[in-house]
Amino acid sequence: MLSSLRKVITEVLDRVGGPKASLCLDFDGTLAAIAPEPSEARLDQSVRQALLAIQETDRIMVGVISGRAIEDLTHRVGIDGLVYAGNHGLEILGNGLRFVEPDALLAKDELRQTVKELVASLWPIPGIRIEDKRLTAAVHYRLAADSQLPKIWAAVNQAVSPYASRLHVRSGKKSIEITPRTGWNKGSAVCWINRRFGIPPRSSVYVGDDTTDEDAFVALKGGVTIKVGPSRQTHAHYSLKDPGEVQELLEYIARGHEAGNSRQ
Ligand SMILES: [Mg+2]
Repeated sequence: MLSSLRKVITEVLDRVGGPKASLCLDFDGTLAAIAPEPSEARLDQSVRQALLAIQETDRIMVGVISGRAIEDLTHRVGIDGLVYAGNHGLEILGNGLRFVEPDALLAKDELRQTVKELVASLWPIPGIRIEDKRLTAAVHYRLAADSQLPKIWAAVNQAVSPYASRLHVRSGKKSIEITPRTGWNKGSAVCWINRRFGIPPRSSVYVGDDTTDEDAFVALKGGVTIKVGPSRQTHAHYSLKDPGEVQELLEYIARGHEAGNSRQ
């Protein structure tokens, strides 16, 4: 795997230079630095400017794919005309697209019930935050004492157990994620988006830092895949150090576009 910024920039500029390309990025830890509290994560104004400039090419479809709920994601990025995929790709909105994964919709009632039970069972534990994202839910324990962790896991497993055929529990970053059992992931979402716009796999770029982004790295073998952060084990072709390097990459793509425009 190659990991110098210059090599990544050269490869990406080559792939997005055709008549149609896509650039999809994760949000937390990729476009925006990880914040101590998820609610504090902000998109830097210069990153927003670069995304705007790239989107204005009309040749490059820009997508943001995140575990956040779609309303939250749309609000944080705040650019009209991008494709937004929330809840790890279970819902997709923007640039003419509107999609909700059907199996996730079927599990909505069970998820709502699980959240209700978790609110009732976890409230005595200080530092717990339960996030209801409509199609998925998360129990954030970053601010809770480590000694409470077994109790938190037991409560989640107990709440989910009646709905185990529909819901799945997995460990996230200082959180426990409750998701519907679907075969759908960020990789399925990005391939679905590419097909909608008729974008060939070769012209598809994906940037992400999470374990859930690995599904997209696998799905986009023919494209350019970039892991942000330490990359001990990843399916991505390239890596970048941090969101600062992602910003530099975006600025290069944006400038490439401007240079192309001035030649027209
Ligand atoms: Mg991330």
